[in-house]
Amino acid sequence: MPRIIVLGIESTSHTFGVGIVEYVDGDVRIIANEKDVYRPVKGGIHPREAALHHVNTSYIVLRRALDRAGVSIRDVNAVAVSLGPGLGPCLRVGASLARFLSSYYGKPLIPVNHAVAHVEIGKFLYKFDDPLVIYVSGGNTLIAIQRRGRYRILGETLDLPLGNLLDTFTRETGLAPPYVVDGKHAIDMCAEKGSKFIPLPYTVKGSDLSFSGLLTHALRRARELREGEGLGDICLSLRETAFNMLVEVAERSLVLTGKKQVLLVGGVAANKVLSRKLSVMASMHGAVYAGTPPEYAGDNGAMIAYTGLLGFLHGLTVEPEKAYVRQRWRIDEVDLPWLRG
Ligand code: AMP
Ligand code: MG
Repeated sequence: MPRIIVLGIESTSHTFGVGIVEYVDGDVRIIANEKDVYRPVKGGIHPREAALHHVNTSYIVLRRALDRAGVSIRDVNAVAVSLGPGLGPCLRVGASLARFLSSYYGKPLIPVNHAVAHVEIGKFLYKFDDPLVIYVSGGNTLIAIQRRGRYRILGETLDLPLGNLLDTFTRETGLAPPYVVDGKHAIDMCAEKGSKFIPLPYTVKGSDLSFSGLLTHALRRARELREGEGLGDICLSLRETAFNMLVEVAERSLVLTGKKQVLLVGGVAANKVLSRKLSVMASMHGAVYAGTPPEYAGDNGAMIAYTGLLGFLHGLTVEPEKAYVRQRWRIDEVDLPWLRG
């Protein structure tokens, strides 16, 4: 086929995104990546409110993406959709739109696992073929490698994801929302005011992590500040403790697997402090490091379109009536024929 165009739909959580990729003679280009993000006025994400946001913005985002790419829906060769993991009501908005586009316009439908898409877009941007993957977002924290046609998890959080830890702490202490301003998380803005490191629970179990004790303890210390301590010190200590835990498990996995590439993906990959720590760690072991740029680190439609293209090229289509959403679809459950190693 001389030119293949795949449209990807993302709606697992706060973001409604539509991306479009074009494949010509083995070359892939991202030709649109439009999104609209639901931002709660207070508190965390309310799944039904986020879903309502997606319903109200989906057709606008879709239109914008087609205009940006300069294509019509009839030019699209396949529709890809993120079917999980994520929040049920949000997932169903993207799935309904994708099923409609697929059946009404007669386009093949490609199911995409959201976590796989975060990894694949990072590999594509940096031309990595076999990285140690560190995936940190609002809903996930894990270390993985590819092996025998799947991503295999080497370590993961036993309770809270890293993004959720940062969001919950800043929300409970009145520092957020908004959680991120100009690419900087509220925890970083607060940590800049800190100067003292306060020991907090550091919980690494083998290659797994636990953040709940750290959160509880840091919140208590923030409520009962001691003489000579400021909230900035708690922010700094919480961030350093959490990031250092992640670097420890990533380093252990890197040394054990001997990988030569380290890839940071997911929303928290936009964090410069974390990225710097991981890049130092990787260079100490002779590995090349890349952290995903913010446009592709957070949830986006381009990563779904790109992963959908890989699926399409390998014949991974699904009938619209069988395109079920899967709220707990783990990355290590997905067979991926394009993976080597
Ligand atoms: P995702 O679920 O992949 O869209 O990622 C969203 C998560 O990334 C949320 O928990 C955000 O707070 C977090 N996040 C976004 N930007 C940053 C940043 N600069 N530093 C730390 N966390 C961030
Ligand atoms: Mg995500």
